[in-house]
Amino acid sequence: MLITYEFYLCTYATTMSRRSQTKNLAHGSSVWPPEKKPTKYMQNIKTDSSPRIPLSFENTKIAFKHQMDADLQRAYWLFKIINVNFLAKIGPSITNFAIKIGLPIQSLIKATIFRHFCGGETIAECESVIGVLARGGVGTILDYSVEGEEDELVFDATCEEIIQTIKRADGDQRIPLTVFKVTGLGRFGLLEKLDAGQALSPSEKAEFERVNSRVDRICKTGYDAGVPVMVDAEETWIQDTIDSLAIEMMRKYNQKKPLIFNTYQLYRHDKVDSLKKDILLAQTSGFILGAKLVRGAYLEKECKRAQELGYPSPIQPNKQATDQAYNEAVQCCVNNIASVGFVAGTHNETSCKRLADLLNEHGIAHNHPHVYFSQLLGMSDNLSFNLADAGYNVAKYVPYGPVKAVLPYLFRRAQENTSIAGQMGRELKLIIRERTRRRLQN
Ligand SMILES: Cc1cc2nc3c(=O)[nH]c(=O)nc-3n(C[C@H](O)[C@H](O)[C@H](O)COP(=O)(O)OP(=O)(O)OC[C@H]3O[C@@H](n4cnc5c(N)ncnc54)[C@H](O)[C@@H]3O)c2cc1C
Repeated sequence: MLITYEFYLCTYATTMSRRSQTKNLAHGSSVWPPEKKPTKYMQNIKTDSSPRIPLSFENTKIAFKHQMDADLQRAYWLFKIINVNFLAKIGPSITNFAIKIGLPIQSLIKATIFRHFCGGETIAECESVIGVLARGGVGTILDYSVEGEEDELVFDATCEEIIQTIKRADGDQRIPLTVFKVTGLGRFGLLEKLDAGQALSPSEKAEFERVNSRVDRICKTGYDAGVPVMVDAEETWIQDTIDSLAIEMMRKYNQKKPLIFNTYQLYRHDKVDSLKKDILLAQTSGFILGAKLVRGAYLEKECKRAQELGYPSPIQPNKQATDQAYNEAVQCCVNNIASVGFVAGTHNETSCKRLADLLNEHGIAHNHPHVYFSQLLGMSDNLSFNLADAGYNVAKYVPYGPVKAVLPYLFRRAQENTSIAGQMGRELKLIIRERTRRRLQN
């Protein structure tokens, strides 16, 4: 069944009212959330919690085992350049200008920064990265990273491409999860209008039904193939619409296992509460919640918009508050492991260590199917490969798409890895440590 605009409004309202009903329940109870009997599915889960080797993120030998000396040297020079704040800042303008005037810069980008952070331009080109990650026990999440195109034909094509990632994952344990962004399937302005509660014109209603239908086709493909599908989180002013869509997909497809995952951005001060309410909703409605926990990627944009439009910032007052919220969200998922499947999407070592410790404390298997660690390709290999080596479920986002289309993604990665207050970026530090261990020269 397709979700119509009216159905959406109705379920959105129900979700919201149930959220406010469950709010009191959640906060009124001394033990939150209420105990729940494990489902049949959970009883069947293998619980081998015996630690293989002690977990250490300092082991650069394991972290870079998949990289030949030449790869490591290339990564070294790449991060040396990226680390220079000035270059990372002017890089995007120079690159865009060079492309505009027709300089053949794309092959240079493809051989350097693209090669480090992306799997290829097509699914077929990602095959070698899938193999390399799998040899280190790390799964792949094919992430079609084309951004900024707003056209119905492009939305249809993106939907087809995401379906192809699910079909590629079907039956291949090396690709345990898949992902998509709702803004890849529908116009931002339309989602924004819905989020603001504004009335849609008849043609906009039809447009939104097409968005719903694309989301539903993707989730149904995941359901039929038994391949989990994650919905990325985006800006707050379209996120309620995304949340409602994701919850509806979970009601439909998460009856037996977590196949659809929504994303919770813990830099938002309201998101621990949302997570708690959604866990309770799942428990009372009889589905399993899928939750990807991240800190959030749109910090500056969110703060700037709130300031410009004069509304209270949706963001936590400081980094420490975000970290605390992240810890609380992880704890909450672990406490409710029977009714929540979750993915910790983070490069933060303390968060990963905390989660690993929590699993041990609770006697939960390292490879419990409801728990995944996840990082981005080309970043924090010390976390991904050491976690995988210690027996935890780990998968990396492997972005792919035409070079020009993934440039915004690459610029964000570059910006993220510049030196902060004169300190060397963490990636560069790790690469230098491994170069020293291998006795590599400049
Ligand atoms: C697998 C994966 C999937 C992801 N999916 C999404 C997604 O769907 N949507 C999305 O938005 N992001 C997503 N991200 C990005 C993520 O939200 C973070 O931006 C990024 O991972 C950095 O946070 P961290 O936990 O790795 O580590 P850290 O480096 O410890 O944290 C940095 C983060 O802390 C927060 N922060 C920094 N300063 C402040 C401050 N002053 N006040 C409050 N908070 C602050 C910000 O969120 C910042 O990004 C994903 C990341 C990964 C690894």
